[in-house]
Amino acid sequence: MSIAGNITNLKNETDREGVILLAVSKTKPIEDILEAYTAGQRIFGENQVQELVDKYEKLPKDIEWHLIGHLQSNKVKYIAPFISMIQSVDSLKLLQEINKQALKNDRVIDCLLQIYIADEETKFGLGFDEAIELLRSDEFAQLKNIRIRGLMGIATNTDNEKQIGEEYYELDTFFKGIKLSFYRKDKAFDTLSMGMSSDYKIAIEKGSTMVRLGSTIFGSRVVKHWKLN
Ligand SMILES: *Cc1c(COP(=O)(O)O)cnc(C)c1O
Repeated sequence: MSIAGNITNLKNETDREGVILLAVSKTKPIEDILEAYTAGQRIFGENQVQELVDKYEKLPKDIEWHLIGHLQSNKVKYIAPFISMIQSVDSLKLLQEINKQALKNDRVIDCLLQIYIADEETKFGLGFDEAIELLRSDEFAQLKNIRIRGLMGIATNTDNEKQIGEEYYELDTFFKGIKLSFYRKDKAFDTLSMGMSSDYKIAIEKGSTMVRLGSTIFGSRVVKHWKLN
């Protein structure tokens, strides 16, 4: 199946479920992204700042770019002018820097708190308690140029579907709790980003509102850096 064909099929599937499709284009060349764009896809995700900035400059300006990878505070300034959503917020310090750069650009930047749900030490993210502590803090209350739209999580990389289902169930439960406790009246707190190519059907079953699909759309990724292709 072609990239365009994959987009058409996956959009049908996610539209039917009322779920947003984020196309993860990391490591993929401009031509592949344009093929998806021409098929109607407008929301793309990248995990590296430099690659994201390069692609932003070369591609149509009505693309909504989401950052889904770990973000260092000193790199926020490069994406602050144009980023649609930063899904990988994992500390108050990072959020403060995003707020500062958003203010400089006279913007409010949408963010998701990345929550640690996997049974793996390699993944980033806030623990449940840390996320609550962040949302309760006085420092957080002062940030006027960021808007928390919801939560993001990555399940354990395993074939064990029961475990993946439990991790996504816990994240959905936490999401609903946070909404009740902190965002009861805020319609903008509406995004639960969970599900990748290997597990998105499980994630949708457990309440995902946005799936992040890379290889299902673009084919498997080679390990080498996209610029060397
Ligand atoms: C790479 C990546 C994805 C997409 O992975 P696929 O398995 O190719 O769908 C989704 N989310 C994050 C955070 C990623 O880094």
